[in-house]
Amino acid sequence: MTPSDGPTAGTAAAIQRPGAEPEAADAPHVSIIMVANRPDVDPCDVLCDALPALSCGDLSLSERAWIDRHTATCRYCANELECYDHLCQTLDQVYPAGDIGPCPAPRFLPTKPAAWYVVVESPVGPLFVATTDDALVEIEFSKGRGEDELRRHLLERGFAPRPLAEGQDGPNDSSRRVIDRVRSQLREYFGGQRDNFDLPLDLSGLPPFTRDVLEATVNVPFGRLDTYRGIATRIGKPAATRAVGNALNRNPIPVVVPCHRIIRSDGTAGGYGGGLDIKFRLLALEGVTLAGLSG
Ligand SMILES: [Zn+2]
Repeated sequence: MTPSDGPTAGTAAAIQRPGAEPEAADAPHVSIIMVANRPDVDPCDVLCDALPALSCGDLSLSERAWIDRHTATCRYCANELECYDHLCQTLDQVYPAGDIGPCPAPRFLPTKPAAWYVVVESPVGPLFVATTDDALVEIEFSKGRGEDELRRHLLERGFAPRPLAEGQDGPNDSSRRVIDRVRSQLREYFGGQRDNFDLPLDLSGLPPFTRDVLEATVNVPFGRLDTYRGIATRIGKPAATRAVGNALNRNPIPVVVPCHRIIRSDGTAGGYGGGLDIKFRLLALEGVTLAGLSG
């Protein structure tokens, strides 16, 4: 979750936020399970929004059981929950809870796999490219705070960000080979000599819904367009158009997972995480122009 991502439609109803108007006493309690099951909602958004309520003990037994079931299969939410637990335990140590009892011992988080990153020059500006020892995990446009954003996204997904210096070798040989492959394929793509990436992608640490969206999007061919609704239909959730847009807006591997080829059903461009100007430049590179819009 990034701060700019608002909750998916409907989630706000379930969770009382600090400072929000108190609900009327006779307002029915909306279960987070009901909200998470709505067709236009990403359940991972609901779960992450519910973490403060969970730590305050405001959730029902069935809601807590739903969180247990979801985090058993969703590494993204399990990671969010673990970070939240860790934060709560740290706060408990800073502000001991008086005579309520001893604080639980701190838990040690498991070692995170390293994600090595370099800067790759491109016609749309320098790109931060991160890989594990065997797959591409993130591409970040360098507009604004590119490196900070990259590191934050990697941490959110459970990776340890590591800058990889030019000419450095040693334990990172395998990672360097992957980065070299990504670099040369990006160069070929931007040079008009490649219309299909052949790269191992790592989508771990992402919500399952987001993974489904990205896996459908990666199959949209060079120079062709699809719509948010088309992707929603393809993953079997035709009503989830808005959630598809949200997922693509935080596509961790833009360009290679071609979210720039996804537009609105009315033919307008929709959004783009890297900025609409880059979406238009990538489409132009593929020979696509959107009628009635300037880029
Ligand atoms: Zn999840």
